[in-house]
Parts: sequence; C-alpha cells; structure tokens
Amino acid sequence: MPDSVLVVGASAAGLATVESLRRKGYQGQITLIGEEEGAPYDRPPLSKQVLAGTWDAERTHLRTREVLDALNAAFILGERAVSLDTAARTVRTVSGRELGADAVVLATGLCARRLPDLAGTEGVHVLRTLEDSVRLRDELLHAEQTVVIGDGVLGAEIAATARQLGREVTLAGPQAAVMQTQLGPDIAERLAALHTDQGVRLRPDTLVGGATTSRGRVSGVRTAEGGVLPADLVVEAVGGIPATDWLADSGLVLDDGVVCDSHCRAAEGVYAVGDVARFHHPGLGRSLRLENRTNATEQAQTVAANILGEGRAYAPVPYFWTDQLGVKIQVYGLPTPTATLHIAEGDVQEGRFVARYEERGRPVAVLGWNMPKQARLQRQHLLPLYTAAPHPQPAGATR
Ligand SMILES: Cc1cc2nc3c(=O)[nH]c(=O)nc-3n(C[C@H](O)[C@H](O)[C@H](O)COP(=O)(O)OP(=O)(O)OC[C@H]3O[C@@H](n4cnc5c(N)ncnc54)[C@H](O)[C@@H]3O)c2cc1C
Repeated sequence: MPDSVLVVGASAAGLATVESLRRKGYQGQITLIGEEEGAPYDRPPLSKQVLAGTWDAERTHLRTREVLDALNAAFILGERAVSLDTAARTVRTVSGRELGADAVVLATGLCARRLPDLAGTEGVHVLRTLEDSVRLRDELLHAEQTVVIGDGVLGAEIAATARQLGREVTLAGPQAAVMQTQLGPDIAERLAALHTDQGVRLRPDTLVGGATTSRGRVSGVRTAEGGVLPADLVVEAVGGIPATDWLADSGLVLDDGVVCDSHCRAAEGVYAVGDVARFHHPGLGRSLRLENRTNATEQAQTVAANILGEGRAYAPVPYFWTDQLGVKIQVYGLPTPTATLHIAEGDVQEGRFVARYEERGRPVAVLGWNMPKQARLQRQHLLPLYTAAPHPQPAGATR
C-alpha cells in the first residue's frame, strides 16, 4: 500500500478519487493539486442551471468546506502542474514546486477545443469552466442573435438554455441532426424537432469557417458554403481536448488521452481517471475515453481500489444524461449508427419512452426520453455486452 498519493486535477474525478480512498480506510498522505482557484465544482449545471440563472455559482460546489476539511488532504489550488517524472513519480508545478508520491493520479480532464479562425475575436466564447458560464450568461442576456457552433450535447444544451431565456439562437453543426453521433439518426431527428418547435434555428450540415467582425466585435460566422450567419454572440461548442500537454515529456503513452490498461494504470504507480483517461474496456475489447459525469465518479472508485491493491478491471456501462427544453434524455451504452431501434416502454407520441438500440438482435444501448426510472431498469439488458468475458489487453497499452 502506498504511503502517499498525489492527485493532479481537482474536479469531479480527482475529488472522487480522494473520497474513495478515504472511504476505503486509506490513512496515508493525500495531496490534490488543481489549476483552478476556487473549491471543486460540478460542470453539468454550467450549461443548464447556471447559464439559465436558476442556480448561483456557489451551488455548483461539489462539497462544503467542512466536508473537504474532513478528508484530511492537502489541497493546492490555483497551481498548474507542468511536468511529470513518471519513474520518480514527481510532479513539478508552475511555481517550481516539486511534489512526489508513491502513487500519482492524473485527473486533468479536458480543455475546450477552439476553432483557429475565430481565435481572439471579441464576443466568441467557450463553455468549460464556471467562470466561462458566468461570463457567457452576462452576454447572452443582452445578445440580439446568438450562434452556437457545434451540434453535440454541449451545443444543444446551450442553445436550449438560450431559448428558455427567450433569446434568439441558431445552432449550426456538421451533422444531419442534433447529437446524431450520440443518439443515432431517429432520436436525433426527434430532438431536432423539439428544438425547432421551441424556436431554435437549426443549421444542420453546416461547417463554420471563420468570423465576420464589426467595430472589433463578432458580427457573424462564415459557413463553408460561403454564407454568413449573423451573430453578436458566438459560442464554440466543438468538443474538448484531453489536458495532456503538460505530460508531453512524461514518457506516458498519449493518444487522445492518457492511455491506460483495464485497471486504469498508465505506468507503474501512475493512474488516469475521468475525461482524460483512455482505458482498455475489457468487455468491449477496445480502448475507450468517456466524457461524462458518472464515469468520473465510477472510474475514481476503481482507481482508488487499484491504488490499494484490489486489482479491479474497469468495465462500465457508459452513461450520460442531458436536459434540454423540458426533456431529460439518458443514454446507457453506446448507440451505433446502424442499430435498429425498438420502443421498449412508453409512447413516442406522448413524449415519454424508453428505446432499445439493437445490433443483430443484441442490445447495445438504451435511451430514456423523460422516463428515468424505466430507462435505468432497462440497463440490465446491456450487462452481457459490457461485462462479457474479458478480452485480452493489447500489448504496449501501458509501460
Ligand atoms: C458545460 C458542461 C456540461 C456538462 N453536462 C454534462 C451532463 O449533463 N451529463 C454528463 O454526464 N456529463 C456532463 N458534462 C461532462 C462532465 O462534467 C465531465 O465528464 C466531468 O466534469 C469530468 O470530470 P474530470 O474531473 O475528469 O475533468 P474536469 O471536470 O475537466 O476537471 C479537470 C480539472 O483539472 C484541472 N487541470 C487541468 N490541467 C491541469 C494541470 N496541468 N494542473 C492542475 N490542474 C489541471 C482543470 O482545471 C480542472 O479543474 C458536462 C461538462 C461540461 C463542461
């Protein structure tokens, strides 16, 4: 058992790792370094309640000061890690500190991807941090016309919240329908119809090239076909990039995330967790990186167990939820573009249903549309696929 653990990244996954260690009775020294200044907070409300103004910023805090204190961990906040010596398990920070531990956990999440052609334009935002959300809300309340670039889950949520605030909003993205990759074509069509009915202007099949400006501020975005979508506020929601730049010289395998084995181990005594971790899923027999809130907690529990020597493989049924325009969508598993959809419960016309995605008669995913309890019960049909006989680990996945 290690005498000390160092966690880099003080958000959902990093904090959950610390909590899991303590819950399991670990009494060694724990240090948590985080780049952001304030107490750890939750990100899902940033595009929903905080942007809508129904929650103040404080309410996003993951734990109270007292609960954090009771963890008996050293929190070093507002300090960026700049390098890792993997063999020595030491981390250097921007202020020149050197912190070492017997086990190091990498929980640095994602940075918002930016479109180079929009860089530095006044009135163009991203949404990843609490500060981003507060700043975006301020502008959203006064904007005449907002364009959200990116038709994935984040872009769809931002457009939905903007409409709930009564703002004029256009959602532009390359897919044929909103969130088609995550939901498959049929449900994506349904979601697109919901957005259209509620007044979101959809621009599917649209690639954005750059911005037009007027008096130093964005006045529109250029589409690849040569048109311009007028906007005095633009939000780029074009995905995230794993925050691994600081690990460039670590010798770890970096490939769209920190590459780990099925025990979430990137090297001897070094683990990765949450959005940044690309782990080998033993049920699926391939590597996977999950960007969702539940994974941050569940994977942290596995990492904590493995730090303490339990030797547990991580084989989750992937899960995410999204709230848009009065609809709660939950997705268990990974919908495939070719899956056949079966309505397992409820009624599509009534706007409450559970759909099962099947490939050659085998369930691969379950979706709930305003039917949370029933969707959760259907999850059991996915267990054979995700927890099937372990596939062997590919050679070279870890050092
Ligand atoms: C706006 C928004 C809405 C979302 N909504 C949903 C939702 O509805 N449902 C859902 O399932 N998921 C949702 N998610 C995804 C979910 O929030 C993430 O999966 C989760 O936050 C991942 O946690 P994490 O700790 O791995 O990474 P992050 O939350 O990204 O945290 C990483 C932390 O590491 C810090 N860090 C980075 N680099 C360094 C460094 N070099 N040194 C020190 N610290 C560093 C960062 O500052 C950050 O605080 C949403 C995400 C966003 C941004």
